[in-house]
Amino acid sequence: MDDLSLKDLARQHGTPLYVYSRRAMLAALAPYQAALQGRPHLVCFAVKSNSNLAVLQMFAQAGCGFDIVSAGELERVLAAGGDAGKVVFSGVGKARREMKQALEAGVRCFNVESTAELEVLSEVATQTGRTARVSLRVNPDVDAGTHPYISTGLKGNKFGVAHEVALATYRRAAELPGIEVVGIDCHIGSQITEIAPYLDALDRVLDLVESIESAGIPIHHLDLGGGLGITYTDETPPAADVLIGQLLAKIDARGHGHREIVFEPGRSLVGNAGVLLTEVMFLKPGEQKNFCVVDAAMNDLMRPALYEAYMGIVNTHQRAGAAETWDVVGPVCESGDWLGRDRALTVQSGDVLAVLSAGAYGMTMSSNYNTRGRAAEIMVDGSQSWVIRERETPADLFRHEHLLPR
Ligand SMILES: *Cc1c(COP(=O)(O)O)cnc(C)c1O
Repeated sequence: MDDLSLKDLARQHGTPLYVYSRRAMLAALAPYQAALQGRPHLVCFAVKSNSNLAVLQMFAQAGCGFDIVSAGELERVLAAGGDAGKVVFSGVGKARREMKQALEAGVRCFNVESTAELEVLSEVATQTGRTARVSLRVNPDVDAGTHPYISTGLKGNKFGVAHEVALATYRRAAELPGIEVVGIDCHIGSQITEIAPYLDALDRVLDLVESIESAGIPIHHLDLGGGLGITYTDETPPAADVLIGQLLAKIDARGHGHREIVFEPGRSLVGNAGVLLTEVMFLKPGEQKNFCVVDAAMNDLMRPALYEAYMGIVNTHQRAGAAETWDVVGPVCESGDWLGRDRALTVQSGDVLAVLSAGAYGMTMSSNYNTRGRAAEIMVDGSQSWVIRERETPADLFRHEHLLPR
């Protein structure tokens, strides 16, 4: 990665080990910034995709705002030097204390997902003596053509305010104390590899903007969410600048070019900038299946177990000889604990494998299942590297637990 050997990093820091390239993350951000240059915009990095402080610090320094889904993420952004004035707060279940904390920090906008939330936010804002700037997350009812667990813009999905009731909800927002309407928001899913669903959603959002403004409620910004996919295997997602170019063309053609544009990308900024390194512990050939048992597991990287996601796996050691077919599995006591199935690899025990495209929804979804400490994280840039999170020890894991009195 960059100018460094992943094998050496694994030897130096141990495995499992997440390694990210700062250059690759900034290179992924560049087309977003280039396509939006010259008009008011904000790229809000979706913190839940990779929330390491060093990653947030880097995006803050690059001028990004942040899309958060909890007060915990807000605290991370602030600890990393991010600006609360560039934070949008998404999520279907914000707690009162989270609303209060976000109001006091001065977040830029709450992306509100229901009338009930709007009413509670109005109460909390009034009690706190602040104004909550809001946009409503509308559900445009378009099919993003992605995995059901990461599709969010269809009817029957828990997210957003249905298109049909959006205008009425905006009317309600406009009359509530402590609430100021500033924008409109939609986010239709994740790992989207087509432009069409974005264009369909945009048309529906612009229809709404026109009817909301006709009702006398001004809309300042359009937040088009995140969701752009990456290549894990053979997917061919559009480049960010191509996608944004087409969205802006429609926005301009429909006479909305003066509005500020917000995006909330996560995966497409960091996914392909990271790998998970794992050492092969045992080879276990069998009658039906060959198992390659590695020291990373579903607790370190959940995407395969949760979504049956495909992630590339390569050996950092160049081995001669014919490849055999292996299921790459972890040590956790679950049959769902696999990282890759039926992979052609030439491999020996002691080799370090790299699971590719692990920069997004890798570390952030990790757990301590089986009392496994979470992996360390490294950032590289050129020939430099930094430990940006230390490996957890067992003592870290039970530090907050208590024995009963004897
Ligand atoms: C998760 C999420 C994002 C980021 O999605 P990606 O697919 O990682 O780009 C953006 N906005 C909201 C509201 C989200 O929940």
